[in-house]
Order: sequence, then C-alpha cells, then structure tokens
Amino acid sequence: MTDYEIALEKHRFKYKKALGQNFIFDDDLLDGIAEAGGADGETVVEIGAGAGTLTRAIARRAKNVCAFEIDETLFPVLDDVLGGLDNVRLFSNDVTELGIETVDMLIGEPYRVIANLPYYITTPLIMLFLQSTECKSITCLVQKEVAERICATDGGDFGALSAVVQAVAEPKLVRIVKAWEFNPMPEVDSAVIRLDKRNGAALDDKLNDFIKLCFAQKRKTLVNNLTSAGINKSDVQSALEKLGFAATARSEQLGAAKLQELGRLLGKI
Ligand code: SAM
Repeated sequence: MTDYEIALEKHRFKYKKALGQNFIFDDDLLDGIAEAGGADGETVVEIGAGAGTLTRAIARRAKNVCAFEIDETLFPVLDDVLGGLDNVRLFSNDVTELGIETVDMLIGEPYRVIANLPYYITTPLIMLFLQSTECKSITCLVQKEVAERICATDGGDFGALSAVVQAVAEPKLVRIVKAWEFNPMPEVDSAVIRLDKRNGAALDDKLNDFIKLCFAQKRKTLVNNLTSAGINKSDVQSALEKLGFAATARSEQLGAAKLQELGRLLGKI
C-alpha cells in the first residue's frame, strides 16, 4: 500500500462519486504530470487536491502550490500527506463560486494550473481559467473523448469547445492515462492535455458568445446559425467571401482562427 492509501484508510475516507473522486497513486505518473505541466520553479494552482498525491509531486518542483479541495473529510489526510511541505497553501473554496478575478487576486502572481480535474466540472473549470489574465497554462487530466474534442482542428470532433480553447490557447495531448491507473477505476480512459495560453490572451464573454452562436445548431450552415441570431445575412455572406469561404460553409470548416476573424469582421468580438 502507498502512504496515500495508508492515510486514507487511517482516516476512514469514503470515496464520493458525485465529487469526481478518482485518485492517482503512482508516483512516476504523478511526477510526469507535474513535469509536463511545467511546475519547475513556478506558482501552481491545483483544483481538487484529493489525498495530496499530485499536490506533493507538484510541490517538489514548484515554487508554491495553491491547492483547492472542497471535501473537508480529506483535510486530515492532506495534513498527513503534505505535512512538512512549507510551499503548499490549501483552500477549501469552490473556485467556480469564487470567480476568476477573485482567484487571480488570491494567488497574486502569474501561475500555471496543473490538476486531475473532477470530471463533472471539467469544461466549466477549463473555461474559467481561460478567462484568467494571470494563468499561463492549464495542464489537466480530462476524459479522453473531451481531450480529443479540445485538440481537434477540424472534422467531426471540432466544435464550440475546440474553437473556444484554440482561440486563446495552443492545446497539446500529452499522454493517455488508462482507466485502471485511477482509484476507484472510472468507466473510460483519460488523457493529460496541456493548454498554453497565447501571450496575454484571455477568453471574454463576447468571443465565447459568438462561438456559441456559430455552433448553435451543428447541422446548419454558418449563415443560417448567425442569421437565426439576428445577424444580417448579406453581412455574413460577404464576410465569409472575404475569408475565402462559400456561403454554404459550416463552422467546423473555418477552424478557430478564421471563426475569430469572422467575428471581428462582423463587429461581434
Ligand atoms: N488530485 C487528486 C489525484 O490526482 O489523485 C484528486 C483528483 S480527483 C479526480 C478530483 C478532486 O477534486 C476530488 O478530491 C474532489 O473532492 C475535488 N473536487 C470536486 N469538486 C471540486 C471543486 N468544485 N473545487 C475543488 N475541488 C473539487
């Protein structure tokens, strides 16, 4: 048994599926995630400290770790596992309730996110940190299918999530993590992805709203989606023409960069 499992057993910890609790105990895998996330010498934010397994791996490399965990029954376990590490600060807040400006203020300097995310709020958490002006990169474990959608540049997997992420960050699939590498074992495999924010880029509501409109109905053409939202048809057609696309083009054909250009030409972002 690992010392994490010993601490969990000692404090009679019961896994809560509703909180997305699938822990990792393999130190090599954990160190690999910390390294892939660029933890060395940085301030790192971790969402969902769990038993402190990834927290400890990050703390060995980082300048500081600010770890958030909402399950208070894990705090005595975290005391055991992280005891003696003076570069770790634990927060019991739910970051989705705090909002990104408060999180940025709390951390007080540029940071990287490294996390094995609770799967039930993966997308809202990624969107939250894409809005940050202080977050430099997000390295996280997500379900494999979500990772594929985030990294897709065109075709069937390319959708609103890919477009929003790629508008402000460069995504990279780092490695697959098999379901059996978690405890308890989830139903599907996961992947580590790293999203590097482009210099100073941050997602804002206008860009997010425009991308959502473009993908409102996946089967419709871009012209139909945007005119259904009240945008002038001939404006959309001429903007598409300027970008070198036919009036029958669909959002997934344009890709993230051209969709952004379209939004600018239409004065929407
Ligand atoms: N980091 C640990 C690991 O890799 O073994 C645990 C990862 S587990 C997938 C996700 C953790 O996020 C759980 O410990 C869960 O309690 C916590 N969590 C769930 N919702 C949260 C939220 N809104 N804010 C912070 N932590 C949350």
